[in-house]
Amino acid sequence: MAHDFETPVADLLRVGDGFDLSALDRRSTPGWKHGKKAAKKALTERGERLSDLQERLFAEGRTGGTRSVLLILQGLDTAGKGGIVRHVLGMVDPQGVDLASFGVPTPEEEKHHHLWRIRRALPKPGQIGVFDRSHYEQVLVVKVEGLEPAETTATRYDELVRFDQKTVAADTTVIKVALMVSHGEQGERLAERLDRHDKHWKYNPSDLATRSKWDEYQAAYQQIFERTSTDEAPWYVVPADRKWYARLAVTQLLLDALESLDLTWPEADFDVEEQRRLLTATARSNAKPAKATKGAKKKKKKKK
Ligand code: AMP
Ligand code: MG
Repeated sequence: MAHDFETPVADLLRVGDGFDLSALDRRSTPGWKHGKKAAKKALTERGERLSDLQERLFAEGRTGGTRSVLLILQGLDTAGKGGIVRHVLGMVDPQGVDLASFGVPTPEEEKHHHLWRIRRALPKPGQIGVFDRSHYEQVLVVKVEGLEPAETTATRYDELVRFDQKTVAADTTVIKVALMVSHGEQGERLAERLDRHDKHWKYNPSDLATRSKWDEYQAAYQQIFERTSTDEAPWYVVPADRKWYARLAVTQLLLDALESLDLTWPEADFDVEEQRRLLTATARSNAKPAKATKGAKKKKKKKK
């Protein structure tokens, strides 16, 4: 690969003891000093590897494996959650991606515990699940807007930690990503949504009410990082004013998680040679016998 991060990006972005959100420079590009053009190229390069590993995970899930990956995306309006879905997950086979978006609970969802809809959306074996917003809204919008009693909200942090621990125990690698834009950048992105006819659909007048509570949301995020970042399911805080950086960084986090699974191709549960003989026997006259040809070469090349 032409360019790389100087330091493993996971180490740079992972929330550690004493994390202070207010000190985060949201235009910064931790670990990356090659600029935008190289980042875009690096994204494409990593996409190939990501796609290969995703296919292995999918194959594993199809052959009795239990493992999956869950990418949780949090961030305020315009932080770039949708862009991650399009530009990062868009690089892999859509049948291996299970995307769930969580908005205001529906009347049906309201009838259940807040984790009900989340549990139902967890990725199945072999899948990369993506949450566009998540159970953490329970300590964001629900907390800031006071949608449930403060005493109840206070119990949510431990509940969320336990939930993630259970998810991890069920063989799901959990990657929690918070995309953090600056107040100024959010203002510009909202203005762009107003300026452009093709972006009006993304604009919601209520986004301004949320924006007016900026400090409260920042404080709520700080609490989340302090109370729910664990060794099993850490938070990664990604400076998001530069979209190209956020996309590359999240790709790298996903890639690292998949690499750490040591994914191999499942062994055939049939006798390959016998099947080749049987296939040859099905040939009509003048046809070439079935041989390990092009396909085998291609896969060999892929298998680094
Ligand atoms: P968007 O991501 O732009 O489609 O907006 C989804 C909206 O749903 C955001 O304003 C969230 O704050 C809101 N939302 C997500 N989860 C909850 C929840 N548990 N309770 C209330 N509002 C929520
Ligand atoms: Mg929105």
